[in-house]
Amino acid sequence: MGSLQAELAALIGEDAVRAPAAAELQDETEARGAAASADAYVTPRSTAEVALVLAHCNERRIAVTPRGGGSGLAGGAVPLRGGIVLGLERMRGVRAFDPRSWRICVEAGLQTAHVHRLARENGLLFPPDPGAAEQSQIGGNIATNAGGPHAFKYGSTGAWVTGLEAVLASGEVIEIGGPIRKDVAGYDLRALLVGSEGTLAVITAAWLRLTPAPEAALPVVGLYATIAAGSQALSRVIESGLTVAALEYLDPTTVALASHGFPAELSSGGAMMVIAEADGSRPEAERLAAEVADVLSDDADAVFAPTERAAVEALWRWRHSVSLTVKATLGAKISEDIVVPFERLGEAIEATLEIGARHELRACSWGHAGDGNLHSTFLVAPGDDAALARAGAACEELFSMAIAFGGSVTGEHGLGWVKGGRLVRQWPPAAVRLHEAVKTLFDPNNILNPGKKLAR
Ligand SMILES: Cc1cc2nc3c(=O)[nH]c(=O)nc-3n(C[C@H](O)[C@H](O)[C@H](O)COP(=O)(O)OP(=O)(O)OC[C@H]3O[C@@H](n4cnc5c(N)ncnc54)[C@H](O)[C@@H]3O)c2cc1C
Repeated sequence: MGSLQAELAALIGEDAVRAPAAAELQDETEARGAAASADAYVTPRSTAEVALVLAHCNERRIAVTPRGGGSGLAGGAVPLRGGIVLGLERMRGVRAFDPRSWRICVEAGLQTAHVHRLARENGLLFPPDPGAAEQSQIGGNIATNAGGPHAFKYGSTGAWVTGLEAVLASGEVIEIGGPIRKDVAGYDLRALLVGSEGTLAVITAAWLRLTPAPEAALPVVGLYATIAAGSQALSRVIESGLTVAALEYLDPTTVALASHGFPAELSSGGAMMVIAEADGSRPEAERLAAEVADVLSDDADAVFAPTERAAVEALWRWRHSVSLTVKATLGAKISEDIVVPFERLGEAIEATLEIGARHELRACSWGHAGDGNLHSTFLVAPGDDAALARAGAACEELFSMAIAFGGSVTGEHGLGWVKGGRLVRQWPPAAVRLHEAVKTLFDPNNILNPGKKLAR
């Protein structure tokens, strides 16, 4: 046991401190080769133990990389400056659950899917549904303000957080908000910690809002011969004023690559796909789904509207597996999460293909159309360093395109280290100064996740 491990073991026990395993130095960010290193993997059992560890690390200027489920796609949980990785997995208690008041207080290390299940078993819904819910933790979702298909109607994770318990770099514990649905007493520190990617504080627990589960959720799928026709269908859904819960798209290349396993016959393989979901009471959802089907059917090659629960679940299971299926094509991929104003989505889908072609890369995209959020993707073979370098250059063009369209370099995954330094391209200097001042105020010694969420 190294000296740092021994010091921390003396504070919180030997069973909570060990050398990190290789997998604990990486997240799900693919093929980017960060030089990760850490001297210890630390798994506190309580907020008090997190506080002891942070106070010690702050005193000794030791870097701390908070880690949730490690499902991040921006390298956020990858330690770049040695020190410790602080794993939250042992803090997964449910501190309070009051289904009648539609709220729950959970520790940060609880898996997202567990919160989904608890809510569902009690007739409630926790709507944020990022795709790796069995792996990710609530703390990680809050730290990245994770989205997902249903963020279109229900908002990203932050919209469901009413209170936070967090440990500052100094080791002080703060509680903001709580089981209250409104609070404007102070500056919105809660919102500041949401999406802070482990750079401002370690989140140890959260009060979450829940909502009564809709009785029915009915997806409608439209297939279109061209990206233009698919984009027009998306616009028609928005312009119709129909309040769908999710509005997703998959471009023709993605549909072709992922068509195997789609839970219905795909007669026109390679078409652009639109998925819209109607939810509510059964009669409401059925009426809305029929109207959505009507709007989607103009110009559609086919419309598919599963109604049985098993078929609906199969469709979403397929949708959540798309990322992995696309990756399997060549063995690796570089995938970004740019966001543009909804009306520029069609152009951004086309631009992704053009950028890929310019860099001699197979490109595709899919994503959360209603939010203007694209997972623009370049396929690479593992070990093909030349293709990887071209993909890096292609991503820079993607970022420039998103900014030029009035969008952002990241809508879901965060800056992490993958997109570090790009904020300065989309924010004015005064805003960048505030961004940096916030970090200094929270973490003057720069021990919390150093090298991440950097504006420049
Ligand atoms: C197949 C797949 C599908 C995905 N789909 C989506 C999607 O639809 N939408 C979406 O938004 N994301 C998606 N993601 C990305 C990822 O799941 C989310 O970013 C998720 O919120 C990360 O949570 P995590 O617990 O795994 O965090 P980690 O990856 O462990 O960490 C992410 C960041 O949060 C910080 N952090 C973690 N826990 C804490 C804490 N308790 N306190 C302070 N900081 C902390 C880390 O330091 C890091 O910067 C997907 C990933 C995969 C692999």
